[in-house]
Amino acid sequence: QCVAVCPTAALTEVDHTNLVIRALADPTKTVVVQTAPAVRVALGEEFGYEPGTIVTGKMTAALKDMGFDYVFDTDFAADLTIMEEATELLDRLTRYINGDTTVKLPLLTSCCPACVNFFEHQFPEMKDIPSTARSPQQMFGAIAKTYFADKLGIKRENMVVVSIMPCLAKKYECSRDEFKTNGNPDVDYVLSTRELSRLIKQASIDFDSLIPLEFDHPMGESSGAGVIFGTTGGVIEAAVRTAYETFTKQKLDKVDFKQLRGMDWIRESTIDFNGTPIKIGIAHGLGNARKLLQEIREGKSQYHAIEIMACPGGCIGGGGQPLHHGDSNILLARQKALYAADKAKVIRKSHENPSIQKLYTEFLERPMSEKAHQLLHTHYFDRSTHVEITKD
Ligand code: SF4
Repeated sequence: QCVAVCPTAALTEVDHTNLVIRALADPTKTVVVQTAPAVRVALGEEFGYEPGTIVTGKMTAALKDMGFDYVFDTDFAADLTIMEEATELLDRLTRYINGDTTVKLPLLTSCCPACVNFFEHQFPEMKDIPSTARSPQQMFGAIAKTYFADKLGIKRENMVVVSIMPCLAKKYECSRDEFKTNGNPDVDYVLSTRELSRLIKQASIDFDSLIPLEFDHPMGESSGAGVIFGTTGGVIEAAVRTAYETFTKQKLDKVDFKQLRGMDWIRESTIDFNGTPIKIGIAHGLGNARKLLQEIREGKSQYHAIEIMACPGGCIGGGGQPLHHGDSNILLARQKALYAADKAKVIRKSHENPSIQKLYTEFLERPMSEKAHQLLHTHYFDRSTHVEITKD
């Protein structure tokens, strides 16, 4: 077992590579892989490409060459996360505006497992703040092993879900008991970007000469909002795009919220929801997350929504990415590439993703439905005392 220290200083890395190889060699298993947004703008560095080169198509081709049955995109699940998280935000906001004093604000985005772990240990009394929406990785696994397994006509036990993540904390996240059904996890194995590059090299795949391929469907279709999840500020910008249109019932002329972007460690901005000012806070790096949460705890800052990401720059700077040795130019190049990938998308808002719309029509009914709650939401624990805290 390969063990490396996580840069977030909270976790150790467990190498799932041999287990993935074994699953690929097992003819009784259907092996499905998802790839996180930040991977596509960093993986190329392991093969001599400039930081920020977008290698989505080559990565997909390499995964197909290695024998994965379906190559899907975590960006699809990021769109799904936004559907649930934006609905939760609007529900809280509407009740707050209507004078419900029991509503807890701000809503904290919940897709970073290192932040969830940090929160459970350090700020457990603020249990009503994080969104109950699961991370994109876990939403993907839950939908793959129900909706997609049903479409294929196979049992969940015969499907293996693998994640390619920029993140070491995702390995820990997929092992949490609340993301298992009868002991079978929604996501079986996680490989980091670096581990994927090693696997490609071990398989003697000539990355350079690969002909780019598209993701498979239906869980390969995504909006530009899903792509920007990989950078600090991206999750909240994606949420704002959907929440604005749902709240105001007006179409956004411009979807680029440049006031939410950048690399400043702690940022705040107010977005005008057609006469209703929505105050947003953003922090990246756990020390900065602590400062932001501390201000909220002490009542010094009044936000409606906040995004915190453990790694510098967000997932582009994740502990499983090609090493950047603190070179901010590398992070900036990866960030720029994600915004370029967003801009190149025809669909740039999560709620306009046709595959997401179809998923709700065919299976989930609507955001925050009973089925959505069961598959796409979670609860948190007070890990300072090891006593479970459930939402409501
Ligand atoms: Fe993982 Fe870091 Fe992204 Fe958090 S910010 S999800 S720890 S890569």
